[in-house]
Amino acid sequence: MKLGIEGRQALVCGASMGLGFGCAQALAAEGVNVTLVARRAELLEQAAAEIRRASGAAVTAVACDITTVEGRALALAACPQPDILINNAGGPPPGDFRDWQRSDWIAALDANMLTPIELIKATVDGMIGRGFGRIVNITSSAVKAPIDILGLSNGARSGLTGFVAGVARKTVQHNVTINNLLPGPFDTARLNSTIAAGAKAAGKTEDEMREARRLQNPARRFGTVEEFGAMCAFLCSAHAGYLTGQNILLDGGAYPGTF
Ligand code: NAD
Repeated sequence: MKLGIEGRQALVCGASMGLGFGCAQALAAEGVNVTLVARRAELLEQAAAEIRRASGAAVTAVACDITTVEGRALALAACPQPDILINNAGGPPPGDFRDWQRSDWIAALDANMLTPIELIKATVDGMIGRGFGRIVNITSSAVKAPIDILGLSNGARSGLTGFVAGVARKTVQHNVTINNLLPGPFDTARLNSTIAAGAKAAGKTEDEMREARRLQNPARRFGTVEEFGAMCAFLCSAHAGYLTGQNILLDGGAYPGTF
């Protein structure tokens, strides 16, 4: 299937590695010009070079912290009129809610709720004016089934999900869709850090915890960034204009509900 998005402009946040990288790679493979954002310039340049080599697409790299006002200004200066916006940033740290101060909550809300909302606000009217827009927020399976040690994530991402549910119904008449992609366990640096935290809390080794997590999943494996990117690219495709306000779970079947 051709996705019909050749020549479109995409702003992809948190894209030097992991799920954001997978999304950028899949979009570039469809001929989308991508602007990649991440904090560490060296890693980001490597990622940009890899995508450029593989796809031949125009790839721009912007090293900044997307959770800051200055970072968002830099990203939008490099890609002022995105047709596609992938919202993503690092997830909040695990822990016990008794240890979290107001500043921990504000940081989680900034990264995982308010930054995506600010970027939607900055780009959605341009998309509406041009009659095409695709916004995908990378959230978490924790929105559907909370993960006890990730309370900051459960809370902040649920706030974004509620906001998106409303606004996604307002933009779709203009062929602008907003959806959330909910990763279960994907094999990335972030998964390694949650496995390390879980192992410490349970008094197990990281290898034991990793194996237990793998076997817990009905697929008996973790997802790959390529699988994640492929779903993201479809959501951004010309074919997905009737799909909006949805929370799409990619978790190997881990969520046990019928729906
Ligand atoms: P990752 O740590 O492998 O990659 C995160 C990427 O985002 C990196 O490129 C990093 O440089 C960038 N980044 C982080 N904070 C940033 C910031 N403030 N500004 C700009 N760039 C920033 O993580 P991942 O596994 O790809 O996860 C992506 C998102 O999905 C995270 O929010 C994570 O919590 C969530 N998630 C991941 C999993 C999983 O199993 N991997 C599961 C559920 C939710």
